[in-house]
Amino acid sequence: MNPKYNTYYISDKPKINLYIDVKGNKIFVIKLIFIFIFCLILLILFYSIFPTLFIRIKGIGITKKIKNTNGIALTFDDGPNPKYTVQLLDLLKEYGIQATFFVVGEKVVKNPEIIKRMHQEGHTIGIHHFNHISNWILSPFQLKKQLRLTEEVINKYTNEMVMFYRPPWGHFNIFTLMLSKRFNIIMWSHIFGDWKVENCKKTLLDQLRTATSPGSILLLHDCGETPGADEDAPEYMLKNLEIFLKECKKQGITFITLKDKRLI
Ligand SMILES: [Zn+2]
Repeated sequence: MNPKYNTYYISDKPKINLYIDVKGNKIFVIKLIFIFIFCLILLILFYSIFPTLFIRIKGIGITKKIKNTNGIALTFDDGPNPKYTVQLLDLLKEYGIQATFFVVGEKVVKNPEIIKRMHQEGHTIGIHHFNHISNWILSPFQLKKQLRLTEEVINKYTNEMVMFYRPPWGHFNIFTLMLSKRFNIIMWSHIFGDWKVENCKKTLLDQLRTATSPGSILLLHDCGETPGADEDAPEYMLKNLEIFLKECKKQGITFITLKDKRLI
């Protein structure tokens, strides 16, 4: 027997096995990672994206337009803001218009006087979560808490029953309809991108002028602190809104607030 050959054969075989084992383990780990990512994507789709698409496309459990009215509804999200919401309330008062505010609970806590004023001046106040957080990343328990805390803080300053809810960014998860069934979920018929200064300057006024069909729900923002928004965008929104309201007054267009006349 050739000793050289034996040495080579015996010592090399375990190396090959070891190589195969390491390679096999790597493939197994990669497969596991792929399965994990695939399951995660499926979970995200079924928990958040599909429910949002289904609810919004089919219009199940939500209101996008108001029936049986000649008026249009101005709705404002993301406030109250100590600067812009006060200016907005002044403007609405000047034109004798009652609107609807979907407020963020933590901002209500910081600005109780503004909420009291909204209520005293006849505006409707609805829930827009306690923190401006998407339903996509909220567990059912967290969502329940967001609704409860915001309802409590609105109650505290208005003593009024909260009837309306608009989820931030219009996002739903698979539990949203069930957990918010005590409220009317109000979406919108017209959205303008008024959280960006550029849109306010270029397109907002023209878009507002086309949004006057009876029952329309117009979505605007009285606070620019939300991620993705320009902080001073409400300043430009207000300028355009003032021109729009002036024109509406001349044309005899009327405005409604959601709590009036059981419109929903
Ligand atoms: Zn919002």
